[in-house]
Amino acid sequence: MTKDDEAARDDAASKQRENATEPAAEAMVPAGTNATRTAARLSEYGFFFDFDGTLAPIQQDPQSVQPAVGVLAALSALAARAAVTAVVSARPVAFLAGRLGAVPGLRLHGLYGLEYSADGGASVRTSPEAESYVPLIARVVADARAAFPGALIEDKRLSCALHFRADPDLEPRIDAWAGARAEADGLLLQHGRMVVELKPPVETDKGAVVLRAAAGLAGAWYFGDDLGDLPAFAALDRLVAERPGFHAVRVAVGVAEGRGAALGGRADLLLDAPPRVPLLLDSLLTEPHGSGAP
Ligand SMILES: [Mg+2]
Repeated sequence: MTKDDEAARDDAASKQRENATEPAAEAMVPAGTNATRTAARLSEYGFFFDFDGTLAPIQQDPQSVQPAVGVLAALSALAARAAVTAVVSARPVAFLAGRLGAVPGLRLHGLYGLEYSADGGASVRTSPEAESYVPLIARVVADARAAFPGALIEDKRLSCALHFRADPDLEPRIDAWAGARAEADGLLLQHGRMVVELKPPVETDKGAVVLRAAAGLAGAWYFGDDLGDLPAFAALDRLVAERPGFHAVRVAVGVAEGRGAALGGRADLLLDAPPRVPLLLDSLLTEPHGSGAP
């Protein structure tokens, strides 16, 4: 997609928002999330987003996934004002950079934090412990492709993702194969929606990323849609418990599509689908600055 396409898309999104009815706009930032408190100290807040299913609608073909309308503009506006604006994804940084790399100031955490880029993907820092697993992961990818010729086996360099969205009947066989392989090679298993991933046994999850990035923040919002996002919600719980006055908001996305259910019970706010996220951010960014009182 060209920059012009993106601009046109974001322009269309802002027109859509202008046409949105007042009640819908109001409902975007419910009182329970205390948006005024965030708006008053936005420059001390961190915003963390999962990508697939949260900023971008899920697609049958994982490679065709693109950010929802308005996401790039909303993230750009947010990154210009918040202390931290970051995407924390199971995807490699290279993939995220292709979709989000044009957003100035956006941090990209790939592969659950094993990869990191602060400059839109121009330079990528890889966890040194994980790097040594690259040859083993390459063998796992080759073996998985041989074992499941019809399935999408995604080579993420530092992890191997076995997708069964296109053929859900494969789930038990893929589960069994991945479980055996994890055991044999000393790899970690990560279950997601319609996907199982094999990754290096390097302790990392989205929660660890949030905790590392949280130094000095007055508060943080996390947006997610899947099981892999639960550790990030737990990280926010921990920050609230450990830091007096820390303000956390947990947002579950995808509730309308029956997703986000695993997170729904732990969320402060439920959004029905990814296009809601930029609408929420726009509301937050235009929220009148209040007293900041809880
Ligand atoms: Mg997701």
